[in-house]
Amino acid sequence: MGLIDNFAKRFLEKGTIVSKLKISDSVYHIRIHSENIKSVDFVPGYFIRLGVGFDDDNISLKDKVRSYSVWNINKSDAIIDVAIATHSNGIGSNWVKKCAVGMEVFFAWKKGTFVLDNSADSYLMIGDLSALSHFYIIKRNLAAEKQVEGIVYSRHREEFYADTDGRFSLGTYEFPQNPYDEVVAKIPQLVSSMKGRKMVYIAGDSRLCVALNQYFRKELNWESNQIKTKPFWNPEKKGLE
Ligand SMILES: Cc1cc2nc3c(=O)[nH]c(=O)nc-3n(C[C@H](O)[C@H](O)[C@H](O)COP(=O)(O)OP(=O)(O)OC[C@H]3O[C@@H](n4cnc5c(N)ncnc54)[C@H](O)[C@@H]3O)c2cc1C
Repeated sequence: MGLIDNFAKRFLEKGTIVSKLKISDSVYHIRIHSENIKSVDFVPGYFIRLGVGFDDDNISLKDKVRSYSVWNINKSDAIIDVAIATHSNGIGSNWVKKCAVGMEVFFAWKKGTFVLDNSADSYLMIGDLSALSHFYIIKRNLAAEKQVEGIVYSRHREEFYADTDGRFSLGTYEFPQNPYDEVVAKIPQLVSSMKGRKMVYIAGDSRLCVALNQYFRKELNWESNQIKTKPFWNPEKKGLE
């Protein structure tokens, strides 16, 4: 057992879980220490592919890793933080419930384009709980004078968690899953309060990413370079990317 897993691990960065905290009804905060973090060329918005299914022959190869956004990084202490939501009840969700301080982990850095972009004057961030840490790190790293609004939703208020500075700095709403109508009802008022060049980050449920991309283009006539979308999960698939 574990031949493929052992082979895969050789190509991944090795780290250790140094802290695990349940920070809301359905989210865990995991802190990983790895010497590799000291030298990474990091841009807010980067994420990791984390091994969540190694050493279990019943888990297929494609289910052995899941993507998680880096919520915070401290290069001098060689640590990163991730926030993992458990709504999916999948492999990643089970892994985070069971993992423990001291456990060895394996991960790879992923970069992509859903990253910090300082070119606008005001920002709107829309997504579910799985995207909250991604929005938080981008918000914290935008220039101080930028205006940032949020529509972050979940079914219950107790599921939201504060940013690393202890602040709930993005607008949170109790909405059901795939709440297109509810979100669209909030957008005009928020957008009208946004100054200068505007940009929207949309992440999480792929259905909402697609529908809102259309809405911003067709209804609000925004240019494609004002709209950043990244589906984090799809109701018909397991894992994504
Ligand atoms: C770039 C990127 C960054 C990501 N960052 C984060 C992050 O920081 N934190 C985080 O929690 N997740 C993040 N995700 C999502 C994460 O990678 C997993 O998809 C998620 O944890 C589900 O994995 P799973 O193995 O538990 O469930 P899976 O086996 O993948 O899915 C099981 C079922 O649950 C559904 N499902 C998956 N996610 C959700 C959800 N949030 N709510 C409701 N149903 C869901 C699936 O559609 C599927 O039907 C990110 C994804 C991407 C692509």
